[in-house]
Amino acid sequence: MKNSNDEFRKGRCLECGAEFSGRKDKKFCSLTCKNNYNNRRYHDRKQYREKILAQLSRNYDILEGLLTDNQAGASLEELSMLGFDSRCLTGFGKGNGSHECCSCFDISYYRTGSKIFGLRRTESGKTAMKKYPPVRISSALLDIKDDGKTK
Ligand SMILES: [Zn+2]
Repeated sequence: MKNSNDEFRKGRCLECGAEFSGRKDKKFCSLTCKNNYNNRRYHDRKQYREKILAQLSRNYDILEGLLTDNQAGASLEELSMLGFDSRCLTGFGKGNGSHECCSCFDISYYRTGSKIFGLRRTESGKTAMKKYPPVRISSALLDIKDDGKTK
């Protein structure tokens, strides 16, 4: 029996848009186009990951600044103006009430819809979120602009 993937058909290259004919599952007109496409996808994913890591680092600096100033909490609006992104976390859990338990590396806090409170440093590796150990972030990653593109 003939495999349906062996059927030939006309297709359009996902990279350059050129028409080609080939096997039904063929997506690219050439190996160069296939490599360019896959390299770009890899680069995009890497950049996305680096952007998240940079945001985590920014969040951490902001939280650490609050601790240094002996502040145990702040409004999310205030934090957002400082560049804090409350969606970037290294640990998350449901609290007893309506608040959520969050952590950014070794700093833990509670979060409601409008503020964070109970900010404290937890001993590394002894939090409920110890599945996510602290990560050293290279300063090169901090050069990424908000749109995720490198300079
Ligand atoms: Zn092509």
